[in-house]
Amino acid sequence: MPFSPSVNLQRMAQVSERPAIGPAPAGTIGLGSGDPDFRTPEHVRQAMIDAINSGYSNYPPSGGDPDLIEALAAHMTKRGQISWSPSQVTVTSGGGGALFSSMTAFLNPGDVVLIPEPTFSQYADIARLAGAFPLFIGPGAGWHLDVDAIRAAAHTYRPRMIVLNTPNNPTGILYHREEMEAVAAIAEEYDMLVLSDEAYDHLIYDGFEFVSALDIPQWQDRLLYCNTFSKTWAMTGYRLGWVASPESLVPAIGRISRSTTGGINWPLQRAGFAAVTGSMEPTEIMRREYIERSALVGELLAGLDGISWEVPQAAFYAFIKYDAPIRAKAMAGAMRERGVALRSGTEYGPHGEGYIRIAYATDRESLTQGVLRVREVLGEAVAGTLKID
Ligand code: PLP
Repeated sequence: MPFSPSVNLQRMAQVSERPAIGPAPAGTIGLGSGDPDFRTPEHVRQAMIDAINSGYSNYPPSGGDPDLIEALAAHMTKRGQISWSPSQVTVTSGGGGALFSSMTAFLNPGDVVLIPEPTFSQYADIARLAGAFPLFIGPGAGWHLDVDAIRAAAHTYRPRMIVLNTPNNPTGILYHREEMEAVAAIAEEYDMLVLSDEAYDHLIYDGFEFVSALDIPQWQDRLLYCNTFSKTWAMTGYRLGWVASPESLVPAIGRISRSTTGGINWPLQRAGFAAVTGSMEPTEIMRREYIERSALVGELLAGLDGISWEVPQAAFYAFIKYDAPIRAKAMAGAMRERGVALRSGTEYGPHGEGYIRIAYATDRESLTQGVLRVREVLGEAVAGTLKID
């Protein structure tokens, strides 16, 4: 008898656009994945090796390594205007684990979750998995929040939660204080939880102000703050993240987290402790390099008619609009045929139609070759000569 996937999985498949494709053909240049090409800082790697050698081989304490949760609480308190205690922190398996635990701990079947888009696709997937309904809210000007649309949706649907992502993947935009405060007022009026995912909070480009959810004291009682070591310390393969929340919400988050991952690899948590308490110079080097690469992408695409994008303010993505009657998914497929892997804009929500996302998390040589291929394909698309199978 064939075993069909669970209803949970089928629900996820309704929204997830993430390509279920095999390995790219040889010679393909990868501009698809948000996986930094930098090595994890030396002192972080060493801390994990030391922890393995010095006997961190037992079950880790529930919630997280005591030093790590204390360091994370201090780290967040220093960055924002809310004071955090270690008992409010839950260590998770990557940012994905933080999102999964904090969403599934509070979403009931039938709940509505407001998801301003375009945004990271995992939020809608997890909402669906929990039996909740992800309601995409289209963007305002310049990819900012459409506060009026959020208010109207809150009024009509009485959502349980809103999910914000700043700095934003895929647009590279930072939300302003005014829009964050406006959402805070709506969240209070309609009693919503606010999940803020700030995976790229240390990769802010020069001249731009980053306002974190940690800067909005009104959210203190309803904030699920999710973050990850993946981007700041180039640790995607290590799988370490955390959620900070009001103390009353911690047991539910912890229960989900424990029953899915059974506590987080203890030597890894010691590496995390070294990361949070150590020098930020390696991250600063990455940040400066991403700024250079962003400029490089701009130079390589300059002068091409029929394309446009908002200059990124953070992270490592260019979200590019093209003027051609070709679906974004087909465009990503055409790019792949021509030897460059990137993402269809629709993976990030309906307003991503007509866009592609380039990740510049790879070395400059590959980036240059890859973007030149992108340029060629976009040029043909805009000229109407691109053949789509
Ligand atoms: N949040 C955002 C906005 C991301 O872009 C990503 C990864 O790309 C994640 C969370 C997931 O982080 P992790 O790889 O640590 O699970």
